[in-house]
Amino acid sequence: MTEPADAAARRAVKPVICYPNETLPVPDLALYAQARAKAAKVDEVLVPPRDAACFRVKAGQFFRISSVEGPQVGDLNLWNAADLSERFYSGKSRALHGTHLTVGERMWSGFPYLRPMATIVADTLEWYGIDAYGGSVHDVIGTRCDPYTGHLLNGTQYHHCCHSNLTRALADATGLSLHQAEAHVHDVLNVFMCTGFTRDTGQYFMKASPVRPGDHLEFFAEIDLIGALSACPGGDCSAEHSSDTAACHPLLVEVFAPEAGALDEWQSPPVNGYDRSHGRD
Ligand SMILES: [Zn+2]
Repeated sequence: MTEPADAAARRAVKPVICYPNETLPVPDLALYAQARAKAAKVDEVLVPPRDAACFRVKAGQFFRISSVEGPQVGDLNLWNAADLSERFYSGKSRALHGTHLTVGERMWSGFPYLRPMATIVADTLEWYGIDAYGGSVHDVIGTRCDPYTGHLLNGTQYHHCCHSNLTRALADATGLSLHQAEAHVHDVLNVFMCTGFTRDTGQYFMKASPVRPGDHLEFFAEIDLIGALSACPGGDCSAEHSSDTAACHPLLVEVFAPEAGALDEWQSPPVNGYDRSHGRD
């Protein structure tokens, strides 16, 4: 295949941002910080290594995911506590904010809801930025490690992938059957995971997470949530996932409730205002 004569000129066209986000509703981080300052811990869940656990957070509360014991990445799913069909939309969150999320950015729900489910209010790994390989932390580009891909590529039957961990945790928390729960599991926010795309082949890469015990990522719940967090069998994801070979550690989830009245001037965001007529009268 020969290149067209103007190939260089076509490649030299400057990119434009797909979704300029200056018109996104801006979270009131100062108000959240005020509410957080006097918030009290009301719950905690320790997610065991190579397993997952669910937690519930009311709108206006905060939840913090912390590294404890050793470097570990976590796969996070979020659902509307009153309606599991409203769940985190990784692809649209990526389109709106970029490949990796940090403070002030949000986990958005899918159609027809498309509203913020949670806003990141603290990230002790924000200093990491984007490294020389193009890697960064807390991505919305990966999916979740799962047993189907392992079977496709290697013929394995591995049951402690994040997909299966999240499925068991949601089934236990809701009383749904395993297969019912599995249908609600979705692409994740890869908490603490350090990832990017190679420049030469465009392949998804991972590298050892810079997370250390004490590091945390904290969220403000914009709506009533059920969350599920899996402590990935990849551990710090420095070598491989979907096996029992990596060193794995627990992850701590803590829930904090603000004082009564702290959020009187705040309202949970409404669902998206598109009229859903799709061009039909
Ligand atoms: Zn995983």
